[in-house]
Amino acid sequence: MLWTTGCETIPVAPGASRDLKVLCDQYNVQWYLDSVSQVVNLRVGGREAKAMVGSSVVVFDGEKIFLSDSLRREQGTVIVPPDFNSKVILRLVGAGMAGRAGYHIVVDAGHGGKDPGCRGRSGTDEKNITLDISRRLKKDLEARGFKVTMTRDSDVFVSLEGRTEIATQAKADLFVSIHANSSPSRNIDGIEVYSLRDLEGAEKRDPQRLKNQRTMFRSLAMKSGDASLESIVADMLFNYKVSESHLLAAYVNKGATFAAKANSRGVKRAGFHVLRNTLIPAVLVEVGFLTNSQEEALLRQPDYRQKIAAGVASSLVSFSAK
Ligand SMILES: [Zn+2]
Repeated sequence: MLWTTGCETIPVAPGASRDLKVLCDQYNVQWYLDSVSQVVNLRVGGREAKAMVGSSVVVFDGEKIFLSDSLRREQGTVIVPPDFNSKVILRLVGAGMAGRAGYHIVVDAGHGGKDPGCRGRSGTDEKNITLDISRRLKKDLEARGFKVTMTRDSDVFVSLEGRTEIATQAKADLFVSIHANSSPSRNIDGIEVYSLRDLEGAEKRDPQRLKNQRTMFRSLAMKSGDASLESIVADMLFNYKVSESHLLAAYVNKGATFAAKANSRGVKRAGFHVLRNTLIPAVLVEVGFLTNSQEEALLRQPDYRQKIAAGVASSLVSFSAK
C-alpha cells in the first residue's frame, strides 16, 4: 500500500511480514531464539509467549494462538507474519498494561485535507505524518482496552471548532492532539508536549468553549439555566483540566521521547485552540521537526512512527492508572 506525501510516495506496508527484532524493540518486548530447538521466547514483565520457527502456532497463557503464516528465519533474523503484531505482541504488552476499563480517549490527527500543516524539505506534509501516527496510536490504545474516537481518520479537513465538539460529544476522558513541528532554524529537533496555559477571562468565554460547556452540562443532566451552579462547575472543570493536562503532558513527553530515543524539548504551556476549547484534560504532542532533515527522514519511516505511537500509548496507560 502506498500513500502520497506531496509529490513523494512513502511505502507503508502494514500487512507485510516483519522483522521480529524491530517489532520487539518498538514495544520493549524481550525475546531470544533458542538455536537448537528453534523456539522463540517472548517476555514482557512476567508474561511469556512461545513461538517456533517453521510453525504458525504461538502458545500464550497456556492457550494456542494460530497465525496466518509460519515464522521463518532469514539472514540471521526471524520474520513473523503480519498478524503477529496484533495477535501476539499487543496481547503480550496489553495483558501486562491494560488501560483503565471504560477509559475513553480522543485522538486528534492535526491538519488534513486542504490544510497540509507544515512541510519538510523533502516534501513531507505534516497532515500525513499526524494521520499515520494517530491511526497507530488508536490501534495500540484499543489493544490495551481503551475506547478511542478519532477526530479524523482520512485526509479530510476538520475545523478546530469541530475537533473540540467531537471531543465534547464523545464524553471522552482525555484529548491527545498529534502534530509535527517546524522552525526557521534547521538544527532544532526533538519532541515537545503542550498543555493549556492559564486563560484570560475573555478566553474562558470563547463562544466555542461556551458551546461545548453547554453540551457537557446537558449531558451531566444539570438543571439548566442555573448560572451560579454552572459557573462553579465550569471553574472546577477548568482547574481540574489545567492541572491534569500538565501532568499528562509530562507523562507523554517522557513516554514518547524514551520510546523514540528522541531529544526532549520538554513540557510547555500554550493556548492552542484545541487545548483552550476542550473541557477535558488535553495535550498537544509535537512529534518532531519536519524542518530538520534528520528528523524528517526518521518521521518518514513507519517503524519510527510506530515507536512514537507506542510511546504515547504506554504513557496514557500509566497516566490512566495513576
Ligand atoms: Zn500542526
